[in-house]
Order: sequence, then structure tokens, then C-alpha cells
Amino acid sequence: MEIFKSLEEHDYEQMIFMQDKETGLKAITCIHDTTLGPGLGGTRYWTYENEEDAIEDVLRLARGMTYKNAASGLPIGGAKTVILKDPKNQVSKEAMFRAFGRFVEGLNGRYITAADVGTTEVEMDYIYQETNYVAGTGLKPGTSGNPSPSTAHGVYVGMKAAAKKAFGSDSLQGKSILVEGVGKVGYLLAEAAIKEGAKVYATDIFERPKERARELGCEIVEAESMFDIKIDIYAPCALGASINDESLKKIEKAGIKVIAGAANNQLAETRHGDKLDEMGIVYAPDYILNAGGVIQVADEFNGGYNAERARKSVNRIYDQIEKVFKIAERDGIPTYKAADILAEERITAVRNTKSIFARDSKSILNR
Ligand code: NAD
Repeated sequence: MEIFKSLEEHDYEQMIFMQDKETGLKAITCIHDTTLGPGLGGTRYWTYENEEDAIEDVLRLARGMTYKNAASGLPIGGAKTVILKDPKNQVSKEAMFRAFGRFVEGLNGRYITAADVGTTEVEMDYIYQETNYVAGTGLKPGTSGNPSPSTAHGVYVGMKAAAKKAFGSDSLQGKSILVEGVGKVGYLLAEAAIKEGAKVYATDIFERPKERARELGCEIVEAESMFDIKIDIYAPCALGASINDESLKKIEKAGIKVIAGAANNQLAETRHGDKLDEMGIVYAPDYILNAGGVIQVADEFNGGYNAERARKSVNRIYDQIEKVFKIAERDGIPTYKAADILAEERITAVRNTKSIFARDSKSILNR
């Protein structure tokens, strides 16, 4: 693999390979872009087939964070870490994550980490023993805790903005909404929609979440027949790629006018986003809609978490989604492309201000 070629392709700033024999740590942090602020992105602890897969994953995820953070209006850049898990090698997690924390400290604030797939508050607590550049630890004063309620609230307000575009009003009252996956986010989204007077259908692959959703007031539907009913809004809140060749045919039949959900990477391929546009379906791009969690986490760095201030920031997802729709109209493009443009335009505009000299610790004036 030609790493520099890959870095050049999407203008990545930095890639850091970290190794510690004692603890078995093998980690890669990728900092994609810090124009808007320090790179923030979670640490994924995962078993990869080979090193190339890990490199590809961290490149893709770091760039994704740049777009998500920029399009959400946050003063932070994009980065990500993968720690290569070796199932055969039993390691002391505490020692390994502390070793990683020391490397993060060495980056001196260019990178802030948080939990991701395979890591939780426990690992963040280990990292926090070595560095302050970590969010979502239970030990830090002013920590923000579980991000799912903020994510769900962001999806809810973004869904309302999308409803306004499709139906002329942002009220969800009387709308039929299908929530696919009633886990941490889907459940809370369903709750908010029911509270507003929507008729919510829910599906899941497990019985327990279905049971909880039924108790909440959702009507449970089976995954195979979930598009057989008449639906106004489809909220994918399970796994990615739920918008694909097969589902698109059913989505049309169900009369769906809006797609707004929490799942990451909802479009199986970008051409499915083009297809939604052709079909006249209002698609609220996933990474803007589900940014509530990262908005909450980023708030910790404003001198400690403030729930009221974070909620205000999450509410802005409504405006960001409206901006996406405006760009889509302006440029005659599908919304998934407009989301990228929203991010890129902001980064470019801010990058230009950096041509103005400002004294900092490295300035010649301080020597
Ligand atoms: P979760 O694991 O708590 O919930 C997902 C639910 O989907 C589970 O109940 C699971 O049983 C169900 N499910 C899985 N496959 C399914 C299928 N094929 N059909 C129907 N149901 C299925 O996860 P979550 O934290 O609620 O996250 C939901 C989605 O939102 C994920 O894609 C996640 O990456 C994304 N997301 C979550 C957050 C967050 O703060 N939790 C932030 C950003 C993005």
C-alpha cells in the first residue's frame, strides 16, 4: 500500500503509528483536517484481517469525522484511531489503553479521543489517567455521559426539518413513522415522535427491544413486511446500507416521502442517494442528522459539559439540515452531495482566515 499516495488523495494531514511491545499496543491515529480545530474522533478497538484493512478503515473514518464535525458547525476537525485487537494475545487493557493515552498526550491537543466500536467509558477512564485529551470518561469533572439521548434528539429535530420540506409543516402529528432498530437511539426517537402525536411503527431483530417499543406505544411490524404498510417517514436506526436496490423498490411502494434516521452509512452506494433524489424523496443525510452525540462530547471542551448549552447546539441540526436542502436546490444536486459541500465550504472559508498572522507560542516574536 502506498500510504503517502492515500494521504495525498484526500489531503490527510497526519498518520501516526504507535507500538508498545510491553502492552501489545498497535494503534494508528489518523488526523485528516484540523482547519476548524483539534481533530476529534473515537478510538475503535477491533480485530482486522490485516494491517491494510486497519489503515483503510482509519483513513475512511477520520475523513468522515471531518465532514461530520464541519457540517455540524463544531469548532473541531476530523480524526480517528484504530487499535488492532489480537484475540490470541491476552493483554492488560488498562496497561494498553494507558500506553495509548500517553501517545495521545504526546500529540499535545492535535487529537482528542472518545469511545467508539469496541471501547466504552472504562477504556476512556484508562486513557484519562494519562491525558486530558479524551471525552466521555466518567472520571473527568464536567463529563457528558451517554451520548445516545443527544443523538436521538438531533435525529428528531432533523426529521422535523425534513418533514417541513416534504409536507410544508414540521409537525409530526398524525404522520406514520417507521423506526427500524429500536435500540439506544431508535427507542428515544420513537418516544419523541409518539409524544408529538405520530403513529410509530417499530421493528427490530430482537424480542427485548420490540417488547420495550410495544410498551412505549409503538405498533410492532416484522422486518420482512415493514414496507407493506403506508409510511410517511422512514427512520433507519439499525445498521448501515439499508437503502439499497432491494429496499428502494419497497420504499416507493410504501409511499415514503422522508428518510431521516440515526444509522451510519445508510446509502449502500452513492447511486442510491441519486435514486432517492430522482424519486422525489427527501433524504436527510445521516452524518448530519446523527451528530448529536459528537456535539455533546465536544461540549465537554467548553470548560466542562453544560447540558443546556449542548442541547441548544444539538437543536441547530434543524438549521444544518435546512442549509443542506438549500445547497441541494442551489446546485441542483442530491442532498447527500449537498452535505459534503456544506462541510467543504465551511472548511475553505475558515482556512482562508488563517492567512492572517496571529501570534502564538511558536511565533518568531516569542523566541
Ligand atoms: P443499538 O445497538 O443500541 O441499537 C440498534 C438496534 O437495531 C438494536 O436493537 C438491534 O437489535 C437492531 N437491529 C440490528 N440489525 C437490525 C435489522 N437488520 N433490522 C432491525 N433492527 C436491527 O445502537 P444505537 O446506539 O441505537 O445506534 C443505532 C445506529 O445509529 C447505529 O447505526 C449507530 O452507528 C448510529 N449512531 C449512534 C449514535 C449513538 O449516540 N448511539 C451516534 C451516531 C450514530
